[in-house]
Amino acid sequence: MNSEIKPKPLAEAVLHALGRSQNPFLICHIDPDGDALGSLLGLGLALRKMGKNPTLVSPDGVPAIYDFLPGQEFLAKVPAVSRVTHEDLIVVLDSSDLKRISSYYDATLFASRPVANIDHHATNTLFGNINYVDTSAGACAEIVCNLLDGMHEEINPEIATCLLTGIFTDTLGFRTTSTTPQMLQLAARLVQHGAPLAGIAEKIDQRRSLVAIRLWTKILETLQLDGKIAWAQCDLAMRRSIGASEDESSGVLRTLTSVAEASVFALFTERSPGRIDVSLRSRPGYNVSKVAFRLGGGGHPQAAGCSLEGEMATIVPRVLSELRIVANNTPSPQGNMA
Ligand code: AMP
Ligand code: MN
Ligand code: MN
Repeated sequence: MNSEIKPKPLAEAVLHALGRSQNPFLICHIDPDGDALGSLLGLGLALRKMGKNPTLVSPDGVPAIYDFLPGQEFLAKVPAVSRVTHEDLIVVLDSSDLKRISSYYDATLFASRPVANIDHHATNTLFGNINYVDTSAGACAEIVCNLLDGMHEEINPEIATCLLTGIFTDTLGFRTTSTTPQMLQLAARLVQHGAPLAGIAEKIDQRRSLVAIRLWTKILETLQLDGKIAWAQCDLAMRRSIGASEDESSGVLRTLTSVAEASVFALFTERSPGRIDVSLRSRPGYNVSKVAFRLGGGGHPQAAGCSLEGEMATIVPRVLSELRIVANNTPSPQGNMA
């Protein structure tokens, strides 16, 4: 790795813990995005290259659009908390709180080993013994890259591909206000190390199943404008009628967030009967993370979410009434997005 680049001071405790650990347990959040998977696999591949034996867990597997990511052959096949025995360190990636790893949070297990929390969400609850939470990072993969620099670990094309995918996804293809000159320099380094930027962009942004696109048209039929809020919904019946899976609705957010009349955006997805996932987005200057946090979720100022129990008919008005406060506010001069 580039020896001129010094790790940020926050990294030191994590570097020390990773240095001492031979069998770390690495986990990312449920319903994973490119940053969750890219950070998990990028760090996992680097630790393997160093001769360590990491256990890698993605609680919800790998959605089809990320099937190109290197290292997924090393994901634990039948991961279960009860099988965690010899691991000597728990590393939680891209997760603002422990609900984000669902049933993998086990109080006894987490009390018996050091827990490193590596994240970039402003809503992070600092649940680790070691917390490397850098809210100035546009992606968790950026923090992982900083850690690899600190380990003086050479970044090979596979690791570079994972990390660039994380950065590309969380910056919506280098379009968010979190895309700083430093991040672009980092991305350039990853390309130099062999990450195929054009290939990643094509796979993330321009390769969706026919079923997913049919689902988006159904979701867009529900689109409504409430003042400066554009919102839409995807219920179970809609998904079942065309045989779409849970993760196929999220791509429609790209279209939803282009409604020029709106500054705040919400997509309500019925995950299972009585459980609604709420995805929130906003234009710079409007902060939706506080609403998500109040409703038990989290995220970034311009991209946040929560998962609520109840029916669409009661949840939609409840969330919209919270969002109206955000949408009716005069926008703050600079938004920060991730
Ligand atoms: P999504 O709308 O699922 O793409 O999520 C947008 C952002 O909100 C991401 O940064 C997520 O990490 C965060 N987020 C989504 N759902 C939740 C949740 N239930 N709890 C905490 N953070 C969430
Ligand atoms: Mn994520
Ligand atoms: Mn992230």
